[in-house]
Amino acid sequence: MDAADRNVFLTPVEYLKGIGPRRAEALKSEMGVFNAGDLLNFFPYRYIDKTRYYTVSQIRQADADVQVVGRLGPVNEVKQGGRTVRLTAEFYDATGRVELVWFKGFPWVKKNLVTGQQYVVFGRPAFYAGRYSIPHPEMETLEQHRSSPLSAMVPVYPSGEKLHKSGVTSRVVALAVASLLEVALPRVEETLSGDVLRSEGLMSRREALRAIHFPKDADELTRARYRMKFEEFFFMQLALLRRKIIRQGKLTGYVFDKVGERFNTFYHHHMPFELTGAQKRVVREIRRDVSTGYQMNRLVQGDVGSGKTMVALLSMLLALDNGYQACMMAPTEILAMQHYRTLSRLLSDMQVRVALLTGSTRGAQRRQLLEDLRTGQVDILVGTHALIEETVVFARLGLAVIDEQHRFGVEQRSKLWGKSGYAPHILVMTATPIPRTLAMSVYGDLDVSVIDELPAGRRPVRTYHRYESARLSVFGFMLSEIAKGRQVYVVYPLIEESEKADYKNLIDGYDVLEEYFRAHGYQVGVVHGRMKPEDKEAALAHFQRGETHILVSTTVIEVGVDIPNATVMVIESAERFGLAQLHQLRGRVGRGGEQSYCILMTGNKLSAESRARIETMVQTNDGFKIAEADMRLRGYGDLMGLRQSGVSNLKIADLFKDGAILEAARKAAQNVLFSDPDLLSPANAPIRAVYDGVLKGRALWSYIS
Ligand code: ADP
Ligand code: MG
Repeated sequence: MDAADRNVFLTPVEYLKGIGPRRAEALKSEMGVFNAGDLLNFFPYRYIDKTRYYTVSQIRQADADVQVVGRLGPVNEVKQGGRTVRLTAEFYDATGRVELVWFKGFPWVKKNLVTGQQYVVFGRPAFYAGRYSIPHPEMETLEQHRSSPLSAMVPVYPSGEKLHKSGVTSRVVALAVASLLEVALPRVEETLSGDVLRSEGLMSRREALRAIHFPKDADELTRARYRMKFEEFFFMQLALLRRKIIRQGKLTGYVFDKVGERFNTFYHHHMPFELTGAQKRVVREIRRDVSTGYQMNRLVQGDVGSGKTMVALLSMLLALDNGYQACMMAPTEILAMQHYRTLSRLLSDMQVRVALLTGSTRGAQRRQLLEDLRTGQVDILVGTHALIEETVVFARLGLAVIDEQHRFGVEQRSKLWGKSGYAPHILVMTATPIPRTLAMSVYGDLDVSVIDELPAGRRPVRTYHRYESARLSVFGFMLSEIAKGRQVYVVYPLIEESEKADYKNLIDGYDVLEEYFRAHGYQVGVVHGRMKPEDKEAALAHFQRGETHILVSTTVIEVGVDIPNATVMVIESAERFGLAQLHQLRGRVGRGGEQSYCILMTGNKLSAESRARIETMVQTNDGFKIAEADMRLRGYGDLMGLRQSGVSNLKIADLFKDGAILEAARKAAQNVLFSDPDLLSPANAPIRAVYDGVLKGRALWSYIS
């Protein structure tokens, strides 16, 4: 492409037809439209269907806008007290007459409308005083209409008060785009290969760009949008997949080819239960990964209670058997301590040294620990984010397990690689039930394993919604469960903004429970973020040993806490929690063989959205359904670390609604890379050009030129 061609797209908006400096200013500041290229990629957000024409007699059947061809009768002024209050005109075709009415803009009407002339009117009919009229119709002479680009599906562009005031109406934008397309379209280049276009049945980029502004009909619009969405997904997936290929080429993984003594001893002598089929499958997938010589980057997705910890433990034993250390990182101190306890207990009869490192490991103890780590005397290190601090140096870290931290991005993962100067295998475990399509984009460079089976004998948790007013009967229910030997969590919301009031609620709630249940001979414990780590640990330990019957807490127990004897989860002010959180909290019960219950307590007044959340919880235990509902309610913007995944750069595609297109695009990208991993073949030149540019930070759409 030569410079002249490129210049078309770089033309500042003020020089485009019908724009000028004033409108250009508004377009720049409000919409980020600076030049012709930007304008071409400023897509309509809806369309008015003007493909259908009505006769006057059909107006009565219309329930929306109508478009009618007819002739204009004489214009009448209706006066009151000497002032014109409205203009009316008959408009007629062979089937009848309808009245057109104006309540303002009289001079324009009088100056521009010609009695006897043929017009196309467009507007929403009103029924008043026994007859139909069309107030403030859009009018075009039939002749104008026939030559107008705006006579099929009319684009409606995003607008706003400021744009409107500056005269940037949807019509102004549409006309500017129309005239720009005439010169620019022939210069628009294809971004996909002929192969991809053919096999996916896609429109060319030129066709799509025209049709997305001025579709002939709804069908053409769908195909145009499909093409543009496909392209966005295609390049996003291409980048993710290429990243993976490059990483695999660059990083040699350790080869864990022995299933040795420790794995076998544990598996055959110390495992407290039989693995589920899904756990076995995932362990196999991991074993295959770590034996290839490539660095493993695997996400293990499994709903709450599916048994991810055991999968982690077995993987860590593999690392140990091959002469490496392993670490396991948890998002909270409570969870880190629990993992530490669980692993220590499970491995107590074996020659494995497990250690714990958190923010509260200090002083001499910490120094000794770091020393033992460096000299390789610690086999498994469990901890919080403290694990990725500079000072933590492993002798030979072979595997890092990251538990319940879907926000742990590529960058942070690579910090772990940096730790030892080489790249350990990485296992990310999450209960966040990410629909596959999302997983593909968020974790596009990870392989995904799914534990889609719960251990045998689990019964689905029964969930109920109760109002404040039913508190006493809820207490009664708690009593009856405790009498059967079970335990109960009572969780209070806690957010920073209302921290003080929230703590007060929790403490008040604790006092009430304490008094009520002590009278029945039961103990109530409490755990929250303001307590010292050792006190938290003690409170949890009491509960775990069954010495307390009820544990009142904040969401510090949200993730991972595993106490199978607890069968009742009472969530106070449940309307204040998000769906993902509610699901995680509910996952704290239903972990043993007993029937478990989740009780969502709310005030009487609920917003529509809170009600929808509560109802979703009551209706389903399925994490995937909950995640989908969550996205419907909240949008996926700030969900699950999506921001860092490039998803927020999507301009037209919608991750949630366009899952099928995403899958098609990902497959296509895989096919291209499979036969041409470095995109060197001439046929893939257009793809290569865009890919290189995107890596350099060019926006995808700028490839109109
Ligand atoms: P999560 O996937 O939520 O991290 P955990 O690893 O904490 O789940 O496991 C939940 C509970 O199920 C634990 O008490 C664990 O010991 C138990 N468990 C895990 N796997 C099995 C299994 N195959 N059979 C029976 N119980 C299991
Ligand atoms: Mg867990």
